[in-house]
Amino acid sequence: MASHMTNYQFPLKPPRKLRSCHVQSRSSCSFNKQEPAQNSTGFQFIRRKKLLSDLTTWGIGGPCNYFVQVFDPTQLVSVVRYCNEQSMRFMILGKGSNCLFDDMGFDGCVILNRIELLEKIESGVYRVGSGYPFNRFGVMSANEGFSGLEFAAGVPGTVGGAAYMNAGANGQETAAAIDSIEIITNEGESKMLKRRELTFGYRSSPFQEMKDLASITAVTFRLKFSKTAREMQQEYLARRWRTQPLGQRSAGSVFRNPSSMGVSAAELIEKSGLKGLRVGGAMVSNKHANFFINCDSATSQDMLELIGLVKDAVNQKFGVELKEEILYIHPS
Ligand SMILES: Cc1cc2nc3c(=O)[nH]c(=O)nc-3n(C[C@H](O)[C@H](O)[C@H](O)COP(=O)(O)OP(=O)(O)OC[C@H]3O[C@@H](n4cnc5c(N)ncnc54)[C@H](O)[C@@H]3O)c2cc1C
Repeated sequence: MASHMTNYQFPLKPPRKLRSCHVQSRSSCSFNKQEPAQNSTGFQFIRRKKLLSDLTTWGIGGPCNYFVQVFDPTQLVSVVRYCNEQSMRFMILGKGSNCLFDDMGFDGCVILNRIELLEKIESGVYRVGSGYPFNRFGVMSANEGFSGLEFAAGVPGTVGGAAYMNAGANGQETAAAIDSIEIITNEGESKMLKRRELTFGYRSSPFQEMKDLASITAVTFRLKFSKTAREMQQEYLARRWRTQPLGQRSAGSVFRNPSSMGVSAAELIEKSGLKGLRVGGAMVSNKHANFFINCDSATSQDMLELIGLVKDAVNQKFGVELKEEILYIHPS
């Protein structure tokens, strides 16, 4: 069955359009559908009770219509096939550390990725399940003396989420350490893609546009030996703790750094005098201006309004249109 990326609009009064998120759209609206929770796949789907606020670092989001966890690629294939048979919209969720869900929830199935295999193929080469915590893998590989993913220690996502977003920091990025990626398509077919076949960019990957992608299932990393990997990682982490509000609920950087300006989004926001700006429970961090925090039961609307206000203010002062790094997931 063909699938496509959905261009999302803002939910209530849309001030502007946010970056869309990879959701496999199916025709029918399932909020009011009555399928059995136990079904032909043998999986227990949780109906309407699972709050997306519990599955995201921002702690924002209403219930999803269907929720299921998968622990291996075979389970994932069964669930994807089931969603397709039911014409049900679905999305793969890692740690929800780059997503803004709506308070209205998600009309479709959220598939929580728990595929956590870890295989050492040879020295510096690891095959890692896409649900494996990216920060844990980053710490492990640096401790074993390998360089390439030192930055990952502070990224609270999954390996699959990092490949999908091409996460990066400190001059490093996920794509540079990738050897190959295993995916499954919407038809449930497994494919292995070599790094040289794939074009990545700043926080962008070919997966964001891949029409027949159901999910990344595993990533093979090829890392280089380095005597200083561990030391570098400690330095990066210490810098994060100094400069980012790590104890608070955020989704990391809200905006991408503008290209070819030599100035970061955080600097533009700070120079616009917006640190500490608050809408309801959402606030621009006083520590890092590109981190917006949920400081007091923020709603999705609070966060969307804050994002809109900051964009307008920076545009007025500097004539720069900031682009979101975070992904907003429309409820339907
Ligand atoms: C405190 C903090 C610090 C951060 N620091 C950084 C940083 O330094 N650099 C950086 O780049 N980011 C950073 N982030 C943002 C975020 O952690 C990364 O973008 C991360 O890679 C997202 O992974 P995730 O598993 O949470 O993805 P999710 O938020 O769960 O999903 C993001 C997108 O990826 C898709 N996706 C997830 N898994 C898969 C899969 N297996 N197959 C296909 N699609 C998939 C989802 O459908 C969604 O569209 C930070 C966030 C926080 C909260």
